[in-house]
Amino acid sequence: MSKGGASLYERDQQALSKMSFLRFFPLAVTGGDGAWLTGDDGRRLLDFSASWGAAALGHSNPALREAVNRALASQAAASHLSSANLPAVELAERLLEIVPQRARGRVWLGHSGSDANETVARAVVAATGRPRIISFKGAYHGGTSGSMAISGHPVQQGVPKAAGLSLVPYPNAYRDGGAEPAGKAALAELEALFAGSVPPQEVAALFLEPIQSDGGMLVPPDTYFRSVEALCRKHGILIVSDEVKVGLGRTGRFNAFEHLGIEPDTVVFGKGLGGGLPLSAAVGPEAIMNHAAAFSFQTVHGNAISAAAGCAVLDTIASDGLVANAAETGAHLRMRLEGLKQKHALVGDVRGRGLAIGVELVTDRATKTPAKTETALAVLRAFELGLVLYYVGVSSNVLEFTPPLTLTKAEVEIGVDLLDRALTDVAAGRVDAASAAAFSGW
Ligand SMILES: *Cc1c(COP(=O)(O)O)cnc(C)c1O
Repeated sequence: MSKGGASLYERDQQALSKMSFLRFFPLAVTGGDGAWLTGDDGRRLLDFSASWGAAALGHSNPALREAVNRALASQAAASHLSSANLPAVELAERLLEIVPQRARGRVWLGHSGSDANETVARAVVAATGRPRIISFKGAYHGGTSGSMAISGHPVQQGVPKAAGLSLVPYPNAYRDGGAEPAGKAALAELEALFAGSVPPQEVAALFLEPIQSDGGMLVPPDTYFRSVEALCRKHGILIVSDEVKVGLGRTGRFNAFEHLGIEPDTVVFGKGLGGGLPLSAAVGPEAIMNHAAAFSFQTVHGNAISAAAGCAVLDTIASDGLVANAAETGAHLRMRLEGLKQKHALVGDVRGRGLAIGVELVTDRATKTPAKTETALAVLRAFELGLVLYYVGVSSNVLEFTPPLTLTKAEVEIGVDLLDRALTDVAAGRVDAASAAAFSGW
């Protein structure tokens, strides 16, 4: 892939805008299969990120390839804006079946988690006439103006927020005294908000992540969201579950909100829904999702190729038992990572559900000081050794595991051994801090 002596990565740096880069090491990929990527240098790398969970079936999944090839062989236009197409209709019909009864209205199809969340945020306000939205500090709902406007992630500091947005704390069991106290304190803040500056009857919707992923893979306390749901029902506030990263089987249940014991009014899907192709969906009550025609569309929304990929993803999750695999292989991965915690002082906490796992690194287990530099060095060293994973968190110190749902226990063994070596090298000062400086991450 070199040209004039420049490597693929160097050419990328010279031609592509860094505005959309979120780079942690100089990874240049020429292909992939299953949980493995092929590097430009010919190396095979084990992928524990699956491109942030988007490649949910792994790379070059045969069922996905076949569905896309079939849809492209006779292309049913490029969009569903001005014509119906079968893959989009079938995908929508199937998504309506997998959400709770109260969300079974209409399906809106988009390209990305961002456009879906943005559309829902606009629609709930327009359809209910209520001007306010609640979401969580640390939440990541997307990278477009409208989805950033309802997010609370520090990478978007300085980006204008929606006029009616209130951000409340997401309970953090590790840092706020354990699950129960963290849940109680977070709930008290929401109640105080409603008793004070934010009249609940003015709130259209509350956006939640069933696991706050980019905020640090935070798993909420068991009963917390049931209390939130009760508050929302009392005041007629719609609940939007953003399942973009951890939905569709990743947590070991089909929908991630099932772990919370709640029934959202609207469910947003993305990332894994397209299996690596651009595709998202928002599924919700007719009164919201049918608010008005020509309200939120982009030219190739409802694209038949992407929708066919979405149908293949849903089929394959069912036919290959991938929800059960996420639960089982995820439990195995979690157990192995708990083992690393026994061995490495850097590991402060291991948490997650199924194949959505976070490992929080700290410089000192007593003070829980975020090990930001060590985290950057750990993913860099892991890459050098042959393992791809990135980090998340409001303090940039949580290793994120969102591998393909097809991951095997044998692959877990290989990956955890590589991470073990990487953490050993970081702790021993064998990874040059300057080498990570070029990769700002987030
Ligand atoms: C990634 C993500 C989004 C945004 O999805 P894009 O495809 O990047 O637009 C929204 N919500 C959550 C929870 C995400 O993880």
